[in-house]
Amino acid sequence: MKKQFVFKDIGKILKKSRVLFNEPMSKHTSFRIGGPADVFIIAEDINELRRIFSAAKRSGLPLYIAGSGTNILVGDKGIRGVVVKAGKALDQVKIRGSTVEVGASISVSGLLSALAGRGLSGLEFMAGIPGTLGGALIGNAGSPRMAIGKTVRSVDFMDYSGRTRRIPAGRLVFSYRDSSLKKMKGIVTGAVLGGLKKASPYAVKKSISAAWAKRKKIHPMDKPSAGCIFKNPNGCSAGLLIDLAGLKGEKAGGAVVSKKHANFILNRGKASAADVMSLIEKMQKRVYEHFGVKLELEVQLLGEF
Ligand SMILES: Cc1cc2nc3c(=O)[nH]c(=O)nc-3n(C[C@H](O)[C@H](O)[C@H](O)COP(=O)(O)OP(=O)(O)OC[C@H]3O[C@@H](n4cnc5c(N)ncnc54)[C@H](O)[C@@H]3O)c2cc1C
Repeated sequence: MKKQFVFKDIGKILKKSRVLFNEPMSKHTSFRIGGPADVFIIAEDINELRRIFSAAKRSGLPLYIAGSGTNILVGDKGIRGVVVKAGKALDQVKIRGSTVEVGASISVSGLLSALAGRGLSGLEFMAGIPGTLGGALIGNAGSPRMAIGKTVRSVDFMDYSGRTRRIPAGRLVFSYRDSSLKKMKGIVTGAVLGGLKKASPYAVKKSISAAWAKRKKIHPMDKPSAGCIFKNPNGCSAGLLIDLAGLKGEKAGGAVVSKKHANFILNRGKASAADVMSLIEKMQKRVYEHFGVKLELEVQLLGEF
């Protein structure tokens, strides 16, 4: 097949990045669900990233970007195309005064530890959100009151033609669990975040622990999930609507609506994407019947279902 030729060749040329074929996406999602991606690449160098994009163009296969897979549901039939994930090489943190320049693949928890170590406060509200900085920027992750977009000064971006640029915050739009970056064809390679305040490392660590404890109390963390399935409609809690519609504990195959937080679907062990989709449809239908509210997905669907 065309894809095999182009990517087998490029696999030999790339020195740092890893190219995998028919890679089960269940290994790369917090849901532990998802069929195989034709090609899965962990990119470890900016120049290699450029070569990967160019190879994808030559092969004609569509490109998809993944972070830690904590906000995606991948279909059981997998992904016909090339999934690219930014590897460790893009996880550097440079702190200058109250701004921090950071690579897209750093985990949110890794970033918070670096900031705490330097006594910089302002991002503690992100504690307990899994995933990478790149994924957090795309979905403007955060708490009900605060989101990462507010701290962005600029975003480093490489489009699928390999062109890199630094986009100032003024040219980006961040809204509730959404950003203008989501529609752009390319990969976020890093960002400059600002507005952080000096504090003692002890105080920052304490406030991280407090935010963590708060999330742990609300979120079910004992079973695989992808976080909140739906966005909160017009400031109303999607979880509360699902609960009032009587769906807490509802099951489909290996998937179940969490009893702790009704906006979470949990994988009880062997859930398929089809099981999750059947619960999603039931939740949307029941909430619409009860309250006339259309629930919109927060989780991103990827691949063939
Ligand atoms: C237990 C649990 C609790 C959660 N709690 C919260 C919470 O409190 N608040 C909240 O906002 N979210 C929460 N989430 C959701 C999730 O953690 C966030 O959305 C997270 O920011 C996603 O990051 P990721 O790296 O896993 O992205 P992924 O899930 O891998 O990707 C998400 C989207 O971003 C794109 N993407 C990822 N990286 C890049 C990149 N470098 N360049 C371009 N596109 C990219 C992907 O294509 C995809 O469209 C929770 C999830 C779980 C499992």
